[in-house]
Amino acid sequence: MTRAFSPDGNPNLSGARSGVAEPRISGIHHVTAIASDPQRNLDFYGGLLGLRFVKRTVNFDDPGSYHFYFGDTLGKPGTLMTFFPWPGAPRGRVGAGQVTATAFAVPSGSIDWWRRRFESHGVDVDSQARFGNQILAFEDPDGLNLELVGIDSTPKGIEPWRDGSVAAEHGIAGFHGVTLAPAGPADRSFELLEKVLGFARRGVEGARTRLEASGPAPGTIADVVVDSGMAPGRLGAGVVHHVAWRTADSETQRAWMDRLFAASQPTTDVAERCYFRSIYFREPGHVLHEIATEGPGMAIDEDAGDLGSTLRLPPWLESSRARIEAALPRIEAPKPSGTASRGA
Ligand code: ZN
Repeated sequence: MTRAFSPDGNPNLSGARSGVAEPRISGIHHVTAIASDPQRNLDFYGGLLGLRFVKRTVNFDDPGSYHFYFGDTLGKPGTLMTFFPWPGAPRGRVGAGQVTATAFAVPSGSIDWWRRRFESHGVDVDSQARFGNQILAFEDPDGLNLELVGIDSTPKGIEPWRDGSVAAEHGIAGFHGVTLAPAGPADRSFELLEKVLGFARRGVEGARTRLEASGPAPGTIADVVVDSGMAPGRLGAGVVHHVAWRTADSETQRAWMDRLFAASQPTTDVAERCYFRSIYFREPGHVLHEIATEGPGMAIDEDAGDLGSTLRLPPWLESSRARIEAALPRIEAPKPSGTASRGA
């Protein structure tokens, strides 16, 4: 096949298989970060933030550690915040070459409610405004940078969790976006994001350039912050491991592999994640990206009503279940207040 990245910004896809629609990134699929204490992580996201704990499984590449998924009622792509909780993990350093902040969407009329909730639970919060949205910036117990962004309407198909500790009317409605901080000159990162991945440039505020995926929401925003003085990030607790973008299915994912290869940005081969399939690549600014399929989804191995209630393992690890369970720390369901560890 003769494919090349052309300098005028139009990847030459003449070699792509016919019949495959132009692949699109509609938005975030999930964001994965490192935590330390598993129970504290559960209590914060499932309790204080009121997300549904939709999947308790293990890191498929390291079954000695948990992989937690939090999301909306059905754990839809675009709502999934996931963690590798490593007990005793040292803090990482947020910095260049990473996703430096993760933003969730909440109704704009609920921002004051959330501010009071954080204040009453001893979580420091910083109120900001950005591109016309009200923002609350705060950290999780491991120091992960998080934001709530006030939006006007809940994205279609997203159902904030009703049985948690946050009333659905205030509930988190999936992601708003992520902030990326490429290491080194950002030109090639912008080129990849805009010309290959198809993000559209929406505006600039200071060092922050807003890019937007084709949508629909949730999770369409990728803000790129260029700061030549930012120290390199270091992986550890409180740091995002990668951001995953969603694509329709395995066919469009294959088209992405072709397109990225043609743009001199090769990906890994497809990894079977049971709930979706993944390819990974590290963009020129060293930020680790994934492209994940929308399906088959969180309900593939447990009923929608039971999501997150028991440890789920991929078929190839079932024969090791007893050994895996014995090695994992015990956890309890998220505490409704999300604040037991703070004594409130
Ligand atoms: Zn991932």
